[in-house]
Amino acid sequence: MKIQNSFSEQQPSLYLVPTPIGNIQDITYRAIDILNEVAVIYAEDTRHSGALLKHYNIKTPMISLHQHNESARISTILEKLHEGKSIALISDAGTPLMSDPGEQLVAKLTAEGIPVIALPGATAIMPALTASGLPAHPYLFYGFLPTKQTQKLKVLKKLQSYSETLVFYEAPHRILDTLETIYKIFGNRKAVLARELTKRFETFYRFSLEDYALLDHLKGEMVLIIEGSPEEIVVTDGDVVEHIELMIADGYREMEAIKHVAKSRKIPKNDAYMAFQKYKKTQEGKE
Ligand code: SAM
Repeated sequence: MKIQNSFSEQQPSLYLVPTPIGNIQDITYRAIDILNEVAVIYAEDTRHSGALLKHYNIKTPMISLHQHNESARISTILEKLHEGKSIALISDAGTPLMSDPGEQLVAKLTAEGIPVIALPGATAIMPALTASGLPAHPYLFYGFLPTKQTQKLKVLKKLQSYSETLVFYEAPHRILDTLETIYKIFGNRKAVLARELTKRFETFYRFSLEDYALLDHLKGEMVLIIEGSPEEIVVTDGDVVEHIELMIADGYREMEAIKHVAKSRKIPKNDAYMAFQKYKKTQEGKE
């Protein structure tokens, strides 16, 4: 077991610092202090974050850390920490690691016993969820759904039976397709789309999934909230078989697919295996 006592002694640390998601005032006094105190700020896009730092008169040097150079940056970050320098990580908006870079870095530092201190603060998830009018907890934050349709279907089929409120990020050019796919798989449920949070044109659309087409032509940044499954969905053989077939179509071997489906649906592996064998026999009979 590794125990991190974040404030017991002054150790060089990595600070995860949330930044505003629109309204520039949504940053804490503590976040500003930390950004002033650290030796370096690693930022997803230094030009973008430059405006924030300028606004708050923060002069700390910035270095880029984004999804394409994160693993390459880790060794120099470790060197700086070993030299006794604390550093901060920020993303373009909101909380680092929440659909933003930082996961590899945090995994590495925590494994090495280096303190990682996360500041609470802005994220698009919380204002969308808490003002949605849907149960705020338990909830499941998924982030962005896969862009490939087969992968998207696979994820949604898995989430279909979850009773937790579901929270997704989505891009405006994909939102209609995503809503249509969710409606096809989940059926009619309550949904909320929170757009341009904290900005001038912040809008909440509270609707039934069957009316998804009315949300045509929406622009801006958006969080999609979907009501959890109203009842425990009983998994029928057909659903299991379809799920296994989807995974095989995605390149999994038959036994891998069976194992995965059984695990993700929390059903005995043998039940999934038998259902699939029965299905294969009926298919052979048809040939
Ligand atoms: N790390 C950020 C956070 O804590 O919310 C999210 C970064 S993620 C790359 C960007 C996505 O977050 C956007 O595509 C959108 O789905 C959501 N988002 C960010 N800012 C938003 C805002 N002001 N209003 C609505 N959604 C927002």
